[in-house]
Amino acid sequence: MSETNETNETNETNETNEIRIEQGICPKCGSNDLEYGPNEPKDESIHYPYICQKCKFDGVEVYCIEFAEHISSDGKEVFQA
Ligand SMILES: [Zn+2]
Repeated sequence: MSETNETNETNETNETNEIRIEQGICPKCGSNDLEYGPNEPKDESIHYPYICQKCKFDGVEVYCIEFAEHISSDGKEVFQA
C-alpha cells in the first residue's frame, strides 16, 4: 500500500527584488550600464533618453529644473530670491 503523499509546496518567489529608482540605474533590471542619447530640454525638465545595455530597456531620465537664483554672466553677482 503506497500512499502518494504529495508535498506540493508552492514555492512562490515572493522575494522583494527591489530596484532603487535613481539616476543611472535601469528601473527594470537594476543595471547601471546605460547608454545615453542627447538630452532634450522640456518646459520644466530635461529629458535624458537612454538604452539599458543589459535588458535593452528604452527609457528616459527626467530631471526637474527648479529656479535657484539669478547671477550675472560672469558669475560675480548673485541675486538670490
Ligand atoms: Zn535594464
